[in-house]
Amino acid sequence: MTDILILGAGSAGCILAARLSQDPTCEVTLVEAGGWPNDPDIARPAMWPFIQGRDFDWGFVTEPQPGTAGRRHHWARGRALGGSSNLHAMAHVRGHPEDFDTWARLTGSQRWSYDSLLPYFRMSESCSTGADDLHGGDGPMPVLLPQGESHPIVGDYIRSWTALGLPRLADHNGREMIGATPNALMIRDGRRVTVADAYLTSEVLARPNLTVLDDTLVHRLTVQGARVTGAEVTRHGQPGTVTGGCVLLAMGAIASPLLLMRSGYGDPAVLSAAGIACRDARSEIGRNLHDHLLGAGNLYRSARPLAPSRLQLSESMTYQSADPSRTTGKPDIVVGCVVGPSAAEGFDAPPPGEAFTLLFGVTHPTSRGALHVTGPRIDDKPVIDPRYLQTDHDRRMFRIALDRARAVARSAPLSEWVQEEVLPGPVVADDAALDDFIARSAITHHHPVGTCRMGADEASVTDADLRMRGLDNLWIVDSSVIPAITAGPVHAAVMALAESFAAGMRAEG
Ligand SMILES: Cc1cc2nc3c(=O)[nH]c(=O)nc-3n(C[C@H](O)[C@H](O)[C@H](O)COP(=O)(O)OP(=O)(O)OC[C@H]3O[C@@H](n4cnc5c(N)ncnc54)[C@H](O)[C@@H]3O)c2cc1C
Repeated sequence: MTDILILGAGSAGCILAARLSQDPTCEVTLVEAGGWPNDPDIARPAMWPFIQGRDFDWGFVTEPQPGTAGRRHHWARGRALGGSSNLHAMAHVRGHPEDFDTWARLTGSQRWSYDSLLPYFRMSESCSTGADDLHGGDGPMPVLLPQGESHPIVGDYIRSWTALGLPRLADHNGREMIGATPNALMIRDGRRVTVADAYLTSEVLARPNLTVLDDTLVHRLTVQGARVTGAEVTRHGQPGTVTGGCVLLAMGAIASPLLLMRSGYGDPAVLSAAGIACRDARSEIGRNLHDHLLGAGNLYRSARPLAPSRLQLSESMTYQSADPSRTTGKPDIVVGCVVGPSAAEGFDAPPPGEAFTLLFGVTHPTSRGALHVTGPRIDDKPVIDPRYLQTDHDRRMFRIALDRARAVARSAPLSEWVQEEVLPGPVVADDAALDDFIARSAITHHHPVGTCRMGADEASVTDADLRMRGLDNLWIVDSSVIPAITAGPVHAAVMALAESFAAGMRAEG
């Protein structure tokens, strides 16, 4: 019997627990700091921007960012069974196939190529449009491709893009990603479906070989030599330990590297400054932090009253090349249509019903930052420094994306919805003014990744099979191992990564 301890019951952790406990010879323990979510707003798709900061959000905050006018950014992260899938915007966008070929190149393993991951994307999905060779039909996660539910302005937004020469795609999750289409969404019967809803069903929870320990905060790993024996925890307020023969770390791109640092793995200088004895100098832990940003936003006063969104407000992301004549291959920029006002702090916006927003951003940012602990205890505030917008590439792509957003707003039929451009406003036109607006309007797209990157090089945190270098029995399986961000939201990729890992572990026995 294999004894598996999973730390973190978020998007990846719930999948690991459900898949690995299918084998009755495995004893699986799933550990989670939060509880079973019971806030009714979680299930209401249009509420997603308004539920951050509640008691199921870790509520991280970045350092002031020179690239975004010295602003701090609030980074929501789910603290509950289902993790960040309780907070996220429900967009199910896999990324471009070439993104995964980049993963394969960086890890030296075909395991992470698009073609190798495709069965695991399909395995996770139950698509409303049915199964085909690219889409899953009977997986745990419902994926809604909106038909009649899309807002009228979103239909006109898509028509304006096609008038400008972009392809009309069936969805984002085919072989091509450049083009206009509604977002595929993790919604069933008008309600959000979290990964816990989809995978930790009552049937799965009834398995005698699966134990779920909620309200259990993990402080640090317990280690003997190169073997992790378990972790020190606080469970229902009482100190204790959890143990396991195979330990799977799935606490996400912020908490996983911080746990490793509290346990003595990281940059020796960082650990020493935090008062933590270094067990193994692993300086890459916490580095390579990157995220998508969105400009919030290119905002318009609407010429017509806007009925509320029946979906999740940001109903359509349009991926495109910086070169408008290229309509295939990996995108560079994204423009999204939000059925309502969306503006960064510091800007005034008209009320809902009177304005719509075009969000704009960069699909493959080259800015890289880092995070680290400041002390040995979990409540010592971490330093989170994504170093947003530090490269010319990112600033240039952002300007192109804003320019493209303005172009679609001038194009019929979307132009018929425009009364006036509120943000940035017609006076903002030269590069310096655009850069200034972008710095003040950029907000996180909520996709931090990369802080325990997998790789072929010895400096990488895990090898291509996600085993942490320097330890015999610790694997890291969550958004932290993503070496280079995908073009779109990362959740679908995290799910496929967890599905692939679980299948590989079961096959090895
Ligand atoms: C507001 C928001 C909107 C988003 N929108 C989208 C979207 O539309 N589409 C998309 O693809 N992606 C979106 N994302 C991103 C996506 O949700 C995440 O990338 C993904 O859920 C990460 O999965 P994970 O398993 O790595 O981590 P998580 O799902 O965050 O899971 C980590 C788990 O570990 C637990 N944990 C952490 N520390 C400890 C500890 N010390 N002890 C015990 N347990 C601990 C946490 O409580 C959590 O349950 C969004 C995210 C947010 C926050």
